Amino acid sequence: MKPLAGLLKKIIIVAMAVSAMTAPAFAKKISVLYVDGQNNHNWAAMTPFMKAQMEKTGLFKVDVVTSPPRAPRPPRNLSPEQKDKAAQAAEEIRKKFQAKWDAFRPAFKKYDVVVSNYNGEDWPKPVQAAFEKYMKKGGRFIVVHAANNSFPNWLEYNKMIGLGGWGGRTEKHGPYVYYDDAGKVVRNTQPGRGGSHGPQHAFKIITRDTEHPVTKGMPKEWLHAQDELYDSLRGPAESMDILATAYSNKSKRHEPMMMTIKYGKGLIFHTPMGHENGKSLQCVGFIATMNRAAEWLATGKVTQALPKNFPTADQVSLAK
Ligand SMILES: [Zn+2]
Repeated sequence: MKPLAGLLKKIIIVAMAVSAMTAPAFAKKISVLYVDGQNNHNWAAMTPFMKAQMEKTGLFKVDVVTSPPRAPRPPRNLSPEQKDKAAQAAEEIRKKFQAKWDAFRPAFKKYDVVVSNYNGEDWPKPVQAAFEKYMKKGGRFIVVHAANNSFPNWLEYNKMIGLGGWGGRTEKHGPYVYYDDAGKVVRNTQPGRGGSHGPQHAFKIITRDTEHPVTKGMPKEWLHAQDELYDSLRGPAESMDILATAYSNKSKRHEPMMMTIKYGKGLIFHTPMGHENGKSLQCVGFIATMNRAAEWLATGKVTQALPKNFPTADQVSLAK
């Protein structure tokens, strides 16, 4: 081979290697696993929408694992005869779902980030144990809206999400955490239920931490599209930082809307936003929050620029 041809070959090989390193098509995507299957919200429509928004960035490869449906509860006030029949039917259903629950074993550890869009029955013990292990060893987790209603009596889960609502949560589950008007974090241990909301409406998100990779560049105040504004969430709230709040006309307090929580070597991003597969999820601010949070959890950085049509202090912005 002529020396010049050899050199040319080397140049071509180097050029190919460089293009493979820089071309996004070859870049390793962040793997995300959505968990759904039970929710008092329309999870079957919500998950595909959030998944599609993540995939549009080109950064993520998203899988979904769906649990068996909730077992129907027997109706009340049955005659003894009807009760026998109902018990038999319930047993049949239980058996049918049992096999499905036995097969429900999300492969958490295969993923960079797990997202819960699940609010329902307790996961089987082996699934709980696998999830705790995943998180303690450095797992990454996003909790969205009613996923923070789940598992009121699973202590480790409550530690992961920091704050939760409903399911019988009270001061026994931890303090009610919010911002006061002076901008100080309050951990209120007075008795009271955990979890509440008023009618849906658009509300202002106040960025409290302007330096965090997820919120960096977001306006100090931006108008989130119509959503349910969760208030009075309670939980252990250990190693928790609040990145953004919203003022609730119901509780008269500044409620946490974006939180980060450390759990073992794991890291969690929690947003109570995202009630419905309509305006709440379509909000450009919500979408950017979710996508940035997933990237930050997986890499520690955010490379996604804020969308040009990001909501302003008085203008809602919906993705098409
Ligand atoms: Zn809701």
